[in-house]
Amino acid sequence: MITFDNVSKEYRDGTSAVRDLNLTIQPGEFFVVIGPSGCGKTTMLKMINRLISLTKGTISIDNKRISDYKIDELRWNIGYVLQQIALFPHMTILENISIVPELKGWDKERIRKRVDELLDMVGLDPETYRDRKPKELSGGQQQRVGVVRALAADPNIILMDEPFSALDPISREKLQEDLFNLQRNIKKTIVFVTHDMKEALKLGDRICVMNEGSIVQVGTPEELLENPADDFVRNFVGTESVSSVENMDLRKLVVPLKVDEIGLDYQLPSISVKTSIKEALDILTRENEVTVEDHGAIIGTLNRQAVIQYLADHLQERGSRDE
Ligand code: ADP
Repeated sequence: MITFDNVSKEYRDGTSAVRDLNLTIQPGEFFVVIGPSGCGKTTMLKMINRLISLTKGTISIDNKRISDYKIDELRWNIGYVLQQIALFPHMTILENISIVPELKGWDKERIRKRVDELLDMVGLDPETYRDRKPKELSGGQQQRVGVVRALAADPNIILMDEPFSALDPISREKLQEDLFNLQRNIKKTIVFVTHDMKEALKLGDRICVMNEGSIVQVGTPEELLENPADDFVRNFVGTESVSSVENMDLRKLVVPLKVDEIGLDYQLPSISVKTSIKEALDILTRENEVTVEDHGAIIGTLNRQAVIQYLADHLQERGSRDE
C-alpha cells in the first residue's frame, strides 16, 4: 500500500509542482495518473522511489515512511519503466535484465529461469532474444524488455512513466493488452503515468486526474465516465462520448454462446439486449459479467472490460490534445 499524506513539492526555483496530495494506492492495484503536460505526474511518481525529494508531507509504503527505508532496499523493490528505456547497448538482453537480481545476490540459475519466464510472458521467445544486443530488437521489443527488467527482481511495486507513448499505435495497443493480462497474473501494484485517456480507461482499476499540481478526481473508469467531478474532468475524459454511444446496440459487444453452451445454467444476472450502454455499465460495475437476452433467450455474455474498451475506443482524441 502506498500512502500520500499532504505531499507537496516545490522545486528550488520556486515552481510548485504538486500540492497537498492525499492518496492511498491499494496493494495489487493498477493505478493510473493522468493529466495535461506539466501537471505534476512525473514529480508525483518519482517521489515514490525518492528520485525526487518531497518538500512537505509524507509518503509511506506499507505504513513505513519512504525516508525510513534504505535507499537500495527501496529502489530494488520498486520497478521503474520510462518512456524511453535505456538498455545498456553492449550488454545482452539477459545481462540487461539481470542487473537488479544480481545486485540482490540471486544465483545465476535462478536469474536465468526468472528471465526466461518473464520474456515468455511478454511474448519474446527466450531462445531467440536472450543473447541478443538491444539494437537487434525493435522499439516495441526493447520496451517489452524494459517492462521485464522492471519486474525481474520481483518487486511489489512498479512505477511506469508513459512507458508506451513513444511506440507506434499497433505495438502500443499490443503492449497495453499484454500489460493488462500480465497484471492480472502477477497482481503487482502498478502506478502508471499517461496523458492518454484511452490508455487510462483500458488499464486502470482507478484513475487519478491531476491538473496544475492538484488531484481533481480519483475514481474507477466508470465513475470518471459517468460522474466527472467537474468540467475539467468532463472535458479531459470526453464524457459526451458516453451519451453519443448511448443508442448503440449491445449485440456488438456480446460474446455469443457456442453451440454446446446453449441451455447451460450461467448463474449470472441477465440483461436485455435493449439495455443502454450506460445502464449496462452500471450493472457491470457491480457484477463484472452478465448474460444478455434477446426475446427471452440468452444470446451470449457481456463483460465489464469489453464495455470500457468500447467506450475508450470511441472517445474523441481529447485526452491527448495537450501534448
Ligand atoms: P508532468 O509529468 O505532468 O508533465 P512534471 O511533474 O514533469 O509534470 O512537472 C510539474 C511542474 O514542475 C512543471 O511546471 C515543470 O515545469 C516543473 N518541473 C519539473 N521538474 C523541474 C525541475 N527539476 N526544476 C524546476 N521545475 C521543474
